[in-house]
Amino acid sequence: MSFVEICNVKKAFGNYSAIKGIDLEVRDGEFLVLLGPSGCGKSTLMRMIAGIETVTSGAIKIDGKDVTHLTPRERNVAMVFQTYALYPHLTVRANIEFPLRKMKLGREQIRERTLWAARMFRIERHLDRKPKQLSGGERQRVALARAIVRSPSVFMMDEPLSNLDAKLRATARQEIQQFQAETKATTVYVTHDQVEAMSLGHRIAVLSDGVVRQVGTPDEIYHRPADTFVATFVGSPAMNLVPRGGILEGFRPEQLLPSELVADKANTTEIRMEIQRIEQLGSTQLVYGTLDDQDGTPVIADVPAMAGISFTPGERHSFRIRHKEMHAFDKATGRRVE
Ligand code: ATP
Repeated sequence: MSFVEICNVKKAFGNYSAIKGIDLEVRDGEFLVLLGPSGCGKSTLMRMIAGIETVTSGAIKIDGKDVTHLTPRERNVAMVFQTYALYPHLTVRANIEFPLRKMKLGREQIRERTLWAARMFRIERHLDRKPKQLSGGERQRVALARAIVRSPSVFMMDEPLSNLDAKLRATARQEIQQFQAETKATTVYVTHDQVEAMSLGHRIAVLSDGVVRQVGTPDEIYHRPADTFVATFVGSPAMNLVPRGGILEGFRPEQLLPSELVADKANTTEIRMEIQRIEQLGSTQLVYGTLDDQDGTPVIADVPAMAGISFTPGERHSFRIRHKEMHAFDKATGRRVE
């Protein structure tokens, strides 16, 4: 059983405030994703939890114990980095065994644990090779096996998949998810990739500019974004935001339905759009246009190809949104209006 509490943690580099006071809990057995754009402070926050970055103020607790001033080893956390950081001169087996060597385990115990970790990430065939004899995906799995071999209390991963191509990333996502489901290891995972965040996280903490904007399940983050930052950062293409009085109305591109597809027009609002440009993406088409308002507000609709509708630039087209799928945000603060 392991849980992490981050209590009003701040981090300054000189007079630059990178983390501006974060309160966050990682529950026992939870897979928590820190999601945010480049420079928002997610790696800094993770490094402070791991103990490889000092905390300017506030406290970090693991299982109720204040670990703010403990070394990484004393915290019993393991970390996987983007770059894997394997020892090139050691075999895969020796790389995985490395963290165990310092634990005064018997030879047989070391052998068993190493094999368990290698099997978990399907690299047992490669135990006698050196890292340079492996593909990128295999190296990444060795780094994961090395991190779990000690059964750490908390498992931390900083963009571990960013050096893999799209296909390998999908496989590795599945493996990480499977590993976490099997071991129930409390996990903190840093990424700027919303697909990774949505597919892996039990909960997601969305960060920007050193603050947490929202913490919630992928479903909550997507369907009830707390502010315009979360609303437009999660979801691709981004949520449309249209000014109306003191409020910004938000609706997702896939919820903007061509009117000819909406049989029951009750509880919907019409949006008339002048089509500018169309992108065919195979299963869907992205329709870029502007509203018939004085600002010519840009709007995107994501229309399934199977709807069989063709759009022409210059054409005016009628769309509809269901009221229950509309969001409202305060124009001044960007916060969600209930
Ligand atoms: P990325 O996705 O690009 O890795 P990130 O969200 O992980 O970004 P951090 O690496 O946590 O961002 O950095 C947060 C901010 O703190 C950035 O503006 C960065 O320039 C700054 N920063 C990080 N480390 C230091 C340092 N050692 N000295 C000064 N500034 C730093």
